[in-house]
Amino acid sequence: MQLVHNATQNVDLTAIVSDGKSYSYQQLLDSSGAFASLLLNGATDLNEARVAFMVAPGFDYVKVQWGIWRAGGVAVPLALSYPLPSLRYVIEDTGARIVVVDQTFGTLLAPLAAEKGCRLIILGEEGNTVIDKPLPELTPERRAMILYTSGTTNLPKGVVTTHANLEAQISTLVEVWQWSSSDHTLCVLPLHHVHGIINVICCALWSGATVEFMPNFSAEGVFNTFQQGHINVFMAVPTIYFKLIAYWESLPVDQRHQITETLAKFRLMVSGSAALPVSVMEKWKTVSGHTLLERYGMTEIGMGISNPYDGERRVGYIGKPLPGVGVRLVDENNAEVADGQPGEIQIKGATVFLEYWNRPEATQKAFTEDGWFQTGDIAVVEDGYYRMLGRDSIDIIKSGGYKISALEIEEVLRTHSAISDCSVVGIPNEEWGELVAAVVILTDKMVSPEHISSWLRERMPAYKVPRQYRVADDLPRNAMGKVTKNDLKPLFNVQ
Ligand code: ATP
Ligand code: MG
Repeated sequence: MQLVHNATQNVDLTAIVSDGKSYSYQQLLDSSGAFASLLLNGATDLNEARVAFMVAPGFDYVKVQWGIWRAGGVAVPLALSYPLPSLRYVIEDTGARIVVVDQTFGTLLAPLAAEKGCRLIILGEEGNTVIDKPLPELTPERRAMILYTSGTTNLPKGVVTTHANLEAQISTLVEVWQWSSSDHTLCVLPLHHVHGIINVICCALWSGATVEFMPNFSAEGVFNTFQQGHINVFMAVPTIYFKLIAYWESLPVDQRHQITETLAKFRLMVSGSAALPVSVMEKWKTVSGHTLLERYGMTEIGMGISNPYDGERRVGYIGKPLPGVGVRLVDENNAEVADGQPGEIQIKGATVFLEYWNRPEATQKAFTEDGWFQTGDIAVVEDGYYRMLGRDSIDIIKSGGYKISALEIEEVLRTHSAISDCSVVGIPNEEWGELVAAVVILTDKMVSPEHISSWLRERMPAYKVPRQYRVADDLPRNAMGKVTKNDLKPLFNVQ
């Protein structure tokens, strides 16, 4: 395992800061090795047995994850925010035989583990262990992890990645984003998702850098940590930047200045996992002096397309294909489209996942005959940069022969001074196929749909202007902060 190999070169450096304590790479190697021995329980190899774990972000999380890998198991990180039925679904779906929890989650998962006949390991009660036998040699093609997709469009699917997939995902990002052992990142993201696990933790630990954890996000806590002056890399989803901006705007001027001075010294700030509204990007530039680096990725492919580290980061664009990642845009017949024409993003290369767990048919359907992964996302290339138009299934609205990008309409709506956020969906309609509809969050409740419509008509062709509006206080979001648009449709009496 390359992560372990790299750690042996950095034994004295600080790997992790959590709960106010610092842990060196040597401690991570020792603890994860001992945990691997405990998991093996006398056996020589877990042979890809699935180990589900529900552990708060911090040193223990990484110890368990590395322990599972080093014992030859498949890591299945459980989302801390999942209700019990979703946890049951993941444990049943993966057929996990071992469940690891920290003290917080013991009570929640113990009955489920007992019912399923799983071995339950509660951290802190596992007893002291050492590495009592050599750990298995891992070949790169072995399965390493099952991550569940965010469930934005449907039930989450288990995405199986091999060690080779993970190493390709990590090494690509380490190179292009120039990670090094002098980096220190703050991790505020959930750790059941590629963004937190791969882009933040694994890239940092691959490079000898330090990961500091903040398990319970608060904008105040994040800025306080930044003000200590040692963080220089930060990655988050758009909703987190949105919250940080709102908090910063509420501060007195002198405090704002101090924060801006600190942030100006950061090396890198990244956004991804959902479309970054141009307004958020622009405001964050005022807060931090940084143009956020926006990139595009998926549980199935890791990161695929990114704005450059050096060079122009184009506002409203997801960037260019990463080195080593095959990217093409195709029409319904899998024929490549010309520049400027919308097409589905398809991906090929070493970063692409092995299979959907237990779903051979879904796996087969996800790939073209010649091995390209079909993302279901629609984009267009302009001037060498990719621009996301949205997911074919929910963001591309098919109305009267047009294909309308919900994301483009949302961008325009957000520039209206009375609209703080919005989401655009297609609702079924006999005459038009689908009708464009919008849910808006208003800062001025007196603004009428008629006003919004006429304001939009001055800014876009009439066929794109929403025909129906609903006002909401908030938008439904999943654990990754993505708007779950299917939950908005009942507002328009669509089930
Ligand atoms: P599910 O597959 O269960 O519906 P999901 O697709 O949201 O959930 P993820 O793998 O977490 O699960 O998310 C990948 C998707 O996120 C991409 O297919 C794309 O639609 C969206 N995405 C990622 N990065 C960006 C970005 N920078 N801009 C717009 N959309 C993005
Ligand atoms: Mg998906």
